[in-house]
Amino acid sequence: MVIMKKEVVDEIERIVGKERYSTEIADLYVYGFDASIHHKTPDAVVRPATAEQVSEIVKLANRTLTPIVPRGAGTAMCGHTVPLKGGIILDLTAMTKIKEMRVEDLYCVVEPGVIYDTLNAELGKHGFWFPTTPGSAEACTIGGMVATNASGMRAIKYGATRDYVLGLEVVLPTGEIIHTGTRTLKNSSGYQLDRLMVGSEGTLGVITEVTLRFAVKPRASAMTVAAFNSLVDAGRCVSNIIAKPLLPSAIELMDSVTIKAVNKCMNVGLPDCEAICMIEVDGHPAAVEEEMKMVEEISRKSGAFSTEASSDKKKINEWTQARKAILPSLSRYGDEFVSVALADDMSVPISKIPEAVAAFQKIAEENGVIVGTYGHSADGNLHTKMLVEPYSEESWKSGEKAVGQIYDKVLELGGTVTGEHGVSITKAPYMQKERRDSIGAMKAIKKALDPNDIMNPGKIFDWEGSIISHLRYPAFLDRRCGCSSDCEEG
Ligand SMILES: Cc1cc2nc3c(=O)[nH]c(=O)nc-3n(C[C@H](O)[C@H](O)[C@H](O)COP(=O)(O)OP(=O)(O)OC[C@H]3O[C@@H](n4cnc5c(N)ncnc54)[C@H](O)[C@@H]3O)c2cc1C
Repeated sequence: MVIMKKEVVDEIERIVGKERYSTEIADLYVYGFDASIHHKTPDAVVRPATAEQVSEIVKLANRTLTPIVPRGAGTAMCGHTVPLKGGIILDLTAMTKIKEMRVEDLYCVVEPGVIYDTLNAELGKHGFWFPTTPGSAEACTIGGMVATNASGMRAIKYGATRDYVLGLEVVLPTGEIIHTGTRTLKNSSGYQLDRLMVGSEGTLGVITEVTLRFAVKPRASAMTVAAFNSLVDAGRCVSNIIAKPLLPSAIELMDSVTIKAVNKCMNVGLPDCEAICMIEVDGHPAAVEEEMKMVEEISRKSGAFSTEASSDKKKINEWTQARKAILPSLSRYGDEFVSVALADDMSVPISKIPEAVAAFQKIAEENGVIVGTYGHSADGNLHTKMLVEPYSEESWKSGEKAVGQIYDKVLELGGTVTGEHGVSITKAPYMQKERRDSIGAMKAIKKALDPNDIMNPGKIFDWEGSIISHLRYPAFLDRRCGCSSDCEEG
């Protein structure tokens, strides 16, 4: 590991004070993780309290060519906050002010460290919400959501984070503080730089303030759980609902692997079958009632052998929690396995869902890997989680092969390798395939804004090599790091 020079550490202390940074090995080790399969230890962790402190730290990093990685809650799943080249982790979770709440103007202004659920609790008092609903809602920060263009189960009706960002304050890689966008609901005032920052994964600057619009909370909602003997039928049910036309607020699809895992860990008694769809509608109570009848009819026509509907908040919450429990439950599927975020977040045109899920099942079987398929399928977003034996090279290799085949299929179907989680390391080679003709333009933008390549370097278009590298599982990591010669693991 490159040990940070004492002058740099002294300067960090001068900018933020003793309490707001650490070079203790225990802290550094912990900040080397996010929710991905990767790990790398940084040289310092800094927790700024203001945009001015962020700017001073970034200026220092740029002057001393020190890599710097912005970090929210660290819930990203592809290695986004893993500091591939060491340097500073800039932890923004101390910046938690809701600075303005302008319900009459339909916007609020928040610092980047505000947690999604905290903001919604505040908005809820006024009858509004920020409805993107990521699965990590209790933990993820608004800054992290903007930087990854996060979304969730309700994207079909309410869109992604991108659709709510009106403006940003950003510290550029030079340390300059700029303001993008406006506080109006419409703006055609020059390049939409806020759009460029959305999804930039900490590679173009540090977001220090977000102006967000929000939506009116629906008055009622209801959910139907439809059970199928075939995953393909469940996939077809999704596109049949959309084609009706009917706009649900969410359709969550779960396959038999994920149903079994959740039933094993939670006492919710999901139908033990090949697939279920949890179909949510919301809006005016009368419309909800009518749409629930349509959902029942379409589900049956699509092959559902049973449906259970409820408008009881407690019951809906129980089902939603069961869906949210997929990830931890999969890790308890079998003692030898861990559930990892590989090929975890593709999107296909909605009508292609049946073909996609059938192909994923076949690819899993052919490669001898267990793949759980689920997702916010109403908008074509499918998640697969792979169960691997973490200390078996063979298991990782089979997984990696299956990932490549899954993404090839997704691209063949006209889809994208990531609907919501982003690229970073784990999706980099596949995204480079998907975006072949625009990688050059992306690199040019990066070079123009960050000529010294200090912001979250080595990711997205700059990643080369296998995704099975910098692994957090030590026994395997020793044998295959796969990164450049300046890595201490390597
Ligand atoms: C259980 C679970 C469920 C999930 N479900 C969903 C889901 O439904 N939908 C979804 O979209 N994602 C989901 N995710 C992924 C993840 O939660 C989101 O990407 C989330 O938006 C990340 O927020 P964070 O605060 O944890 O950001 P981090 O993980 O800390 O950072 C994510 C990226 O943003 C950058 N970043 C963070 N803050 C800033 C800032 N202020 N300025 C510039 N760059 C910054 C980082 O450098 C990094 O590249 C899930 C993750 C988990 C663990």
